[in-house]
Amino acid sequence: MRLALPEPAMAKRTRPKPTNPLPLARSTLQRQLERLRDEARTCQRCDLWRHSTQTVFGEGSVDTDLMLVGEQPGDAEDIQGHPFVGPAGRILLEALTQAGLADTHYYLTNAVKHFKWEPRGKRRIHVRPTTSELLACSHWLEGEIAAVRPRVLVALGATAVRALLGPGPRVTKDRGQWLPSAFGPPVLVTVHPSSVLRIADREERHAALTALVADLRQVVRRLESLDRRATS
Ligand code: SF4
Repeated sequence: MRLALPEPAMAKRTRPKPTNPLPLARSTLQRQLERLRDEARTCQRCDLWRHSTQTVFGEGSVDTDLMLVGEQPGDAEDIQGHPFVGPAGRILLEALTQAGLADTHYYLTNAVKHFKWEPRGKRRIHVRPTTSELLACSHWLEGEIAAVRPRVLVALGATAVRALLGPGPRVTKDRGQWLPSAFGPPVLVTVHPSSVLRIADREERHAALTALVADLRQVVRRLESLDRRATS
């Protein structure tokens, strides 16, 4: 199932005037993003391209205040070529909907753009990217942030936290916190939706989803507060 990323015409929120001292036209930023996406198709900055189907770049328009960053594409994403189209994506969509963000524009991407996996029987099992792979792929994430210019970033899981905030912060101790980032926008730390999926017990899984929704509700409040400040 593909995430229904909202189209610009469906925007419910009006974006305040950009605060960038050198504002660029939205069409210029969209072209910048598309150029980056094209370049990433043939990326060989690390070895992960060798064993995966394709580069899975971020999706969404530049007309958004919110960027969500996950870890890397999974099996379904690798085959379909879109981020968060597998089971974890369904959890994320459910959490975004429950948090009240279903109608908000967002840009959805991963810290690493190729699927890293190892075989287990006939299945391809996810393997966490190394620091050097993360660093190699940061070129694309930085480019996405520069083009989209979100006002709020959400780090979904440990790899995204490392990509956006460096080696210090941890999901375990910083979950639910807004941390300053070198990229400019503050980063909300939360879990990757796949962690919800891995919980076997039904009640515990429900509680984990509720906790993820509570984290994402902070995004709603932060965006509303930024809007108030921009219009006052
Ligand atoms: S994982 Fe990132 S850096 Fe490595 S080959 Fe793919 S796009 Fe390039």
